[in-house]
Amino acid sequence: MSNLAEIRNFIDGVHVAGCGRTFEDRNPVDNQPVALVHEAGEGEVDRAVAAARRALKGPWGRMPQAERIALLRRVAEGINKRFDEFLRAEILDTGKPVLIAAHIDIPRGAANFNAFADILAGVATETFRMDTPDGAGALNYAIRVPRGVIAVICPWNLPLLLMTWKVAPALACGNTVVVKPSEETPATATLLGEAMNEAGVPPGVYNVVHGFGPGSAGEMLTRHPGIDGITFTGETRTGSAIMKAAADGVRPVSFELGGKNAGLVFADCDFNAAIDGTMRSVFANCGQVCLGTERIYVERPIFARFVETLAEKARKLALGDPFDKKTSMGPLISHEHRAKVLGYYRKAREDGAEIITGGGVPEMKAPYGDGAWIEPTIWTGLAEDSAAVREEIFGPCCHVRPFDGEDEALALANDSPYGLATAIWTTDLARAHRVAAGIEVGICWVNSWFLRDLRTPFGGMKQSGIGREGGVHSLEFYTELRNVCIKL
Ligand code: NAD
Repeated sequence: MSNLAEIRNFIDGVHVAGCGRTFEDRNPVDNQPVALVHEAGEGEVDRAVAAARRALKGPWGRMPQAERIALLRRVAEGINKRFDEFLRAEILDTGKPVLIAAHIDIPRGAANFNAFADILAGVATETFRMDTPDGAGALNYAIRVPRGVIAVICPWNLPLLLMTWKVAPALACGNTVVVKPSEETPATATLLGEAMNEAGVPPGVYNVVHGFGPGSAGEMLTRHPGIDGITFTGETRTGSAIMKAAADGVRPVSFELGGKNAGLVFADCDFNAAIDGTMRSVFANCGQVCLGTERIYVERPIFARFVETLAEKARKLALGDPFDKKTSMGPLISHEHRAKVLGYYRKAREDGAEIITGGGVPEMKAPYGDGAWIEPTIWTGLAEDSAAVREEIFGPCCHVRPFDGEDEALALANDSPYGLATAIWTTDLARAHRVAAGIEVGICWVNSWFLRDLRTPFGGMKQSGIGREGGVHSLEFYTELRNVCIKL
């Protein structure tokens, strides 16, 4: 018998076993198992969807909005009360440094509930007074109703943050959810179930099923006819598979997908700010951030100095114990993902990249020898059509290339099937506005990166997504609008 902790599905307010199969949840710092996870089968997915439907038709559906919002604030308090438990669970699942998890992942997990509680409390209703032939007129007003039972499919890079980014607006709008966290990071979604119970959220409102994608809980959930909408964050390829599943029953989707984002560094930038911002946008979370910049374009006069300074800083990144506050970079999420990233490192070499720093696997001392560690890597000299410049790698690496002038910068940045985010570094305000207007992305930062006001729209163009979530924009997906027309 194993002594490992067990992670069960969370259905109708209780932790339940799965279809009989279990899988290991491993810590990427040393590849040791931290928990056994109970995989959900058709039966558990059915039960979770049925519980969510019952809650929707029952206590949750009938609850006044003010009460629902008060419950969401209690969930946020509950996360903060159990902060250390969430923190530890997230770090064991991802290997990310405590500095990131304690300042971004867990606080944002709680903040998402408060933000959408605030937003829902202030939503206005659209009203139109119209003329009629008899002169009496008619009054139209639109009411927002919950969409129903929402499937929430999540990735592993910011597990609690990205899941609550969808669960909070879904619940605030009066929906119920069935969440399928990533198989790599099942812990915090399960813990959140306990926080929901403690806050007094009725059973069935928040459900979690564990498993994989194709042929497992992910696909079963997206194909389930009891699901009224699917919100998904993950790879573009997976989005396309989910869209096919959603076609049966014509269910709407909201997608936050991959990216191959550009950083545009103009010669007139604040050099140190551009270096610090680019360091974060390339190496934060070991490069596993959808908004990260794997393509850096630098105006020629400062190109050589920029590459040299960036490399100098990258070499100083401290890899090691994620619970140590001095650690600045953790491992990749898994050996499987490292094999993919190393494949790009190899392709970049074969395509003739000049490797400025990194390019391989670092030597880690015990107990980290078996972890999924990788070197922070910077290349120059690659053609724009080489795989490492074209495709999303999702690792701590970037290609840096010089450009001459604004037009070339824009053309290079826009030459991508993706359109998620960009970071522009310049002190010329007019240029910042011009480039922001011409860049084909959903999120454009000027002299910053990863600054997020939760009231603003978030999402991508082209193959980076469908729809926008954030602030009142989340209502587009999480509610249906019903127009009521009253003849006066
Ligand atoms: P992934 O697409 O492999 O998996 C995401 C989730 O989908 C997992 O829970 C997985 O089990 C599930 N899944 C896989 N196949 C499925 C299927 N056929 N049906 C239903 N569910 C299925 O993504 P990942 O590797 O976990 O995350 C990394 C990716 O996520 C990157 O491409 C990154 O850019 C993207 N991402 C995007 C954003 C954004 O906001 N745009 C944010 C974070 C991550």
